[in-house]
Amino acid sequence: MRVIRPFDPWKSPLCTCPKKYSFNPYTGCAHGCLYCYATYIPNFYKLREKKGLFKNLEKDLKELPANSLISMSNSSDPYPPVEREREITRRCLEILKDYDVRLMVVTKSNIVLRDLKILSEMRSAVSITITGLDEFEPNAPPAEERMEALKAVKDYGIPAILRFDPVIPGINDSRLDIIEKTMPDHVVTSTLKLKADSMARMEKKLPWLRKVGFEKKGAYRYFPENLRREVLDRIRNFCEELGISVGFCREGFRFPSKSCDGSHLIPRLESL
Ligand code: SF4
Repeated sequence: MRVIRPFDPWKSPLCTCPKKYSFNPYTGCAHGCLYCYATYIPNFYKLREKKGLFKNLEKDLKELPANSLISMSNSSDPYPPVEREREITRRCLEILKDYDVRLMVVTKSNIVLRDLKILSEMRSAVSITITGLDEFEPNAPPAEERMEALKAVKDYGIPAILRFDPVIPGINDSRLDIIEKTMPDHVVTSTLKLKADSMARMEKKLPWLRKVGFEKKGAYRYFPENLRREVLDRIRNFCEELGISVGFCREGFRFPSKSCDGSHLIPRLESL
């Protein structure tokens, strides 16, 4: 069974990602974020291990072209709490290290700090999602711990990316202090997008969402365009004043950096 697959975020025409692959060491996610976009996967909040993971990972890696960009992970978190004992993601890194790939780690957990040495020996970047929405992310480490983790990634010399995503206008769009306190190498940001299941969960917490005139784009509901532009322009301006590159994720707006996801920070080996 394939474990590395082409990244294709629901065929969204608004996706500006470079060509990349998606790898999820775990199936499902224990972090339990209310707004999660991946809960269309059955039993999503129940974390599961994959049978034959390491063998299948080796098999898929042998077929990948050199310099391939792998995003780990997009529809799960590679550092759920159980990773401290299980070390499944760590064993995957030990396998990945022997291949000519570029790795983007995407996580909400400071457990990634355990693996900085091995990540520093690879062509990698670490992207930590920090939203300031702790009550919507019940099982992930608190924002303060993630901020310390992002700073530690940068101090270690690994490209450090802040995912300030999702942004909910009126709730966390004022949390620009997260950017200023962490001073990452790149910021990816995006407003909240809701599907039917995540809408139902979020409306229980924020009943005023029922009154928002959402715009439908594919399977998602987006905040009105003028509101998204205002919020994202403010974040972009703030980053630019600090000299930090910034990209938007599936918004359909232009942004100034070389990539939306920060993957331009992971070097390519031109001789390959
Ligand atoms: S960490 Fe990511 S994949 Fe896991 S529940 Fe939260 S949003 Fe979903």
